Amino acid sequence: MTFLALDIGGTKLAVRAASADKTWERIEPWPRDGVESDLALLRAVLAAAPPEVVRAGVSAAPTVDLDGRVTAWPSRPSWCGLDLRRTIEETIGAPVLFGDDGTLAAVAEAEASGCADLVYLGLGTGVGGGVISDGRLLRGAWGTAGELGHLPMDPAGPPCRCGRGGCLQALLSPEALSRRTGLPSEELVTSGKVVAFVAETLARVVVLLSELVQPSRVHIGGGFGVALPGLPARVGERSRVWIRQGHRLPAVATAAFGAHASLAGAMVLARTGGTKR
Ligand SMILES: [Zn+2]
Repeated sequence: MTFLALDIGGTKLAVRAASADKTWERIEPWPRDGVESDLALLRAVLAAAPPEVVRAGVSAAPTVDLDGRVTAWPSRPSWCGLDLRRTIEETIGAPVLFGDDGTLAAVAEAEASGCADLVYLGLGTGVGGGVISDGRLLRGAWGTAGELGHLPMDPAGPPCRCGRGGCLQALLSPEALSRRTGLPSEELVTSGKVVAFVAETLARVVVLLSELVQPSRVHIGGGFGVALPGLPARVGERSRVWIRQGHRLPAVATAAFGAHASLAGAMVLARTGGTKR
């Protein structure tokens, strides 16, 4: 009996299989030449995974509709229209459940830290997030609440891939920070200016979220988020400047699962068959 977790991210595919006595994992960067090569990689990795899969949970960066079809993915537009559910189900011969990458990460982080009021912020190719409030995942009226990457931060800010200007991810994605600073992407994490700007921006987000949902913990994950040295401490420090007098701030920490919180969330989805906490 095997449960399968997939993290379909902007730059890489991560797959983990877990059975009673062992785990198996593969992480592969996507090729650069379009959806057919991506699918060939996806099928090859799934074919190499252990057999007897009961169910798969997928943490998806693309927007996937209720039928499992990709409706939007600015990072990899050639995926649009792809029947992702059928593609995976045909390869593994088991049912597939989808969740938003940030939302699933929030569920996994809350579970791992035993915290009923937690916000997850994932900084990777884009910015994702999820909100656990009073022990439950905040879903909203249409089921897609917690899209923290698209918090409108600055009306005069740079354009976001969603079509609007000044979203959080339009300010904090590595691509945006490279444009802002003129630094190549590999030098971003060693730049004090970048860490300071990211910390200042996230501090405002922490204070905004504190006023709105009052989390006791904020966890920062994502490949880029965990690579920025000392980021959680800096965010905590800068939040204190913004918080109203006499009000408490959440503890800001690195995600319990580091850069792999979404994958951990996908495994929760596979094992439980849902994320209704
Ligand atoms: Zn946006």
